[in-house]
Amino acid sequence: MQKFQRLYEVLREEGIATEENTWTPEAADPEMVARVHHVAYVDNFVRGVLDPRAQRRIGLPWSPGLVRRTFRAVGGTVLTARLAVEHGLAVNTAGGTHHAHPAFGSGFCILNDLAVAARSVIREGLARSVLVFDLDVHQGDGTAAACADDPSVFTASVHCGDNFPFRKQRSDLDVVLPAGTGDRAYLEAVSTALDQALERGRPDLVLYDAGVDVYAGDRLGRLNLSLAGIVERDTLVLKRLRATGIPTAAVIGGGYDADIDALADRHAILHRVASNL
Ligand SMILES: [Zn+2]
Repeated sequence: MQKFQRLYEVLREEGIATEENTWTPEAADPEMVARVHHVAYVDNFVRGVLDPRAQRRIGLPWSPGLVRRTFRAVGGTVLTARLAVEHGLAVNTAGGTHHAHPAFGSGFCILNDLAVAARSVIREGLARSVLVFDLDVHQGDGTAAACADDPSVFTASVHCGDNFPFRKQRSDLDVVLPAGTGDRAYLEAVSTALDQALERGRPDLVLYDAGVDVYAGDRLGRLNLSLAGIVERDTLVLKRLRATGIPTAAVIGGGYDADIDALADRHAILHRVASNL
């Protein structure tokens, strides 16, 4: 979990994050979270009394600090979405816990920040229709499940089929890529998927999950993207969204590496591209 802090330090060092353009979120409040999650699940998590199987499925040891971080991170994506509506583009230094389902957590994800943020901005009247465009290497299964019956949230996921989660959900648009897909084929798939998602979802806000676990050297990803390919991907997505004039809130999503500096540097691609648009 050190990657979040290291990413912020990198962005400060590079002059991308400044006093003027950086906000600290409040923790998401329970009412906000209850727009997506079952109250009993959230309550058990907060009190540290989830049954051991449910806690193992999350994959993180419970602690009061984990509870604080979880609610703060969801608050961060909600704030990012509101700032995107106000400024056109906003980027979180965390977020993308897309494996969290309404009644259980999974794959290091406890609360689904994307679904909560989508519901929250709609409830606040800041958007009528939200596209969750998820390019993390893993399927956004929790988001798909949470928003399956919600016509105001269009879920799109471009992911490696041969990877976690092994039981996939049905997003509004799923693009399934084989293990080993490299830059060219991947970028073509992303470009087509973005056009389709915009056409079908007709969003007035996009939540973009820019997971870097598509990288060839990622511990958990199985695609074969180069660093240049990730730069090209984020440029393609953010430029096209800017051209459409649709406000965009981006989150960093997954990325796994024992080398925290290298990992933070990969996640910073998103912020670099955003600041150079
Ligand atoms: Zn992932």
